Amino acid sequence: GHNNLNAKLVLLGDMGAGKSSLVLRFVKGQFLEFQESTIGAAFFSQTLAVNDATVKFEIWDTAGQERYHSLAPMYYRGAAAAIIVYDITSTDSFSRAKKWVQELQKQGNPNIIIALAGNKADLEDKRKVTAEEARAYAEENGLFFMETSAKTAVNVNDIFYEIAKRLPRA
Ligand code: GDP
Ligand code: MG
Repeated sequence: GHNNLNAKLVLLGDMGAGKSSLVLRFVKGQFLEFQESTIGAAFFSQTLAVNDATVKFEIWDTAGQERYHSLAPMYYRGAAAAIIVYDITSTDSFSRAKKWVQELQKQGNPNIIIALAGNKADLEDKRKVTAEEARAYAEENGLFFMETSAKTAVNVNDIFYEIAKRLPRA
């Protein structure tokens, strides 16, 4: 049968990791070299058809700075899915991503689907975090993992598609 689902999705991760750029790529098919940094959070929606269902993502793109941390629960509370984004050229951003995973697993919806996105995969020559390390971490923590590039569009639709496939059907 046909299902129409609404799914609240939150993007979390260090400032500059590429959260807004991933959303802009997914929602508008665009990329900006000088993406403005997000203040507070921004809302987008996008619909995706997956097998037997149409999933309407209600996307909260958060700011990532520490001074906005106390706002994060407003965005992840009740979320069906989260994309935790780090930048493959920054070990700090990978550490920050792990902190977000811990927080979500402690405070978030227990059934939340968590995707770990190693973004800026186009910057191979500046890579600091290996795919193997991130994949192992993801497996240990029950997340699914993809390397993405908002710049080249690699794996951007795919990560949303993989989330859509994992959402519980009504
Ligand atoms: P946010 O703070 O997590 O929302 O990060 P932004 O989306 O604002 O991106 C921060 C900077 O990284 C911007 O200058 C983007 O153009 C750049 N950026 C984002 N994604 C990519 C990517 O996949 N590849 C490259 N090379 N740059 C990216
Ligand atoms: Mg942003």
